[in-house]
Amino acid sequence: MPPASLCYNSLWRAMHPESLSIYVHIPFCARRCAYCDFNTYAWRGSIVRDTLQAICSHIESTDAGDVVVPTIFFGGGTPSFPDPEGIIRILDTIRSRLQVLPDAEISIEANPGTTDRARYAILRQAGFNRLSMGVQAFDDQLLQVLGRIHTAGEAICSFEAARQAGFENINIDLMFALPGQTMQQWQHTLRTATSLQPEHISCYSLTIEPNTPFYTLHQRGQLNLPDEETDLRMYLYAIRALTRAGYEHYEISNFARPGYRCRHNIVYWLNEEYLGFGPGAVSYRHGVRWKCLSNPRRYVQAVRDGLSLIEEEERLDASASLGETIMLMLRLREGVDVRAVEERYGVNLTQRYAHQLNRLQRLRLLEVTPDYWRITPRGLPIANTICAEFL
Ligand code: SF4
Repeated sequence: MPPASLCYNSLWRAMHPESLSIYVHIPFCARRCAYCDFNTYAWRGSIVRDTLQAICSHIESTDAGDVVVPTIFFGGGTPSFPDPEGIIRILDTIRSRLQVLPDAEISIEANPGTTDRARYAILRQAGFNRLSMGVQAFDDQLLQVLGRIHTAGEAICSFEAARQAGFENINIDLMFALPGQTMQQWQHTLRTATSLQPEHISCYSLTIEPNTPFYTLHQRGQLNLPDEETDLRMYLYAIRALTRAGYEHYEISNFARPGYRCRHNIVYWLNEEYLGFGPGAVSYRHGVRWKCLSNPRRYVQAVRDGLSLIEEEERLDASASLGETIMLMLRLREGVDVRAVEERYGVNLTQRYAHQLNRLQRLRLLEVTPDYWRITPRGLPIANTICAEFL
């Protein structure tokens, strides 16, 4: 028997064969964090308003065809940073142009320090029904090192304000293996997070990205990062602690209370189609992946002038798409739905990947059955390497 949620996904797809998820990128933050390499700018004023207006025009000029929209995700950047009116106008534009399903998951990212209860209430009333909060750590000293604009206490207040404003589905983003972070600090962060009882928790190990202040510090040997073993212990501890607290570990880095998995991100992990709007937003449709102009000023100007908004484009043939689908599905703890993928690509997966399957099975890194392939607990610490085997 395939796992229940994979059955659900197959059934859901059969009912909505032309579903298309929507991502909106709001590329502005109050300040840049020291580790961040996202496409975001600490800009204010008219460029923020112009960008939001350009996103509306971009949506209006897009003919997505006859599709239904099961999920919408406003990410960034900090979508809770600009005035909610501009954000709501974008959501209304999506609704006026596309058939958004009545039970659609509509998420918005927020950072403590950029919003309050009244703003949360406006967003909730406008139809956002899931909030993803960037907290990273419940430790003032670590938050300062990261360059975050909020304290641990402010993050707790912000969470409570969102609850009072009516958000019943909240994710908390956390990071571990931070400079100078001890195991005790990580345990405290997890304890505080679970005591708030969010519906969803994401835990990512810090990665040092080029072109960030952390990269420069790291190059100079001035970033006191925990060693690999501590990094791994922190990850394994998170799995144990969150599972004990009632969260399902459903993706390598994601945990949810039953019924609260992030439907939008599952679209990515199933390698389904989505359209992205906003500077730097990525879309994937009909085997083509493309990225919008990253710079907000260039994006706004191109929208105004009716020019192409594409900065990068990649056409994926069936073989590349198949490899990506397997790589992404392996991130899910339920693994690759072998029958569904075989049906989608018309290939015999076991034959095609016999070499990888034999090797990974022999090393006890992958559980292989006729119905699913799943990374074993032993394989989890090197999950990214295992996923890459199929590319
Ligand atoms: S708030 Fe998020 S998107 Fe903005 S700079 Fe910090 S990490 Fe990057």
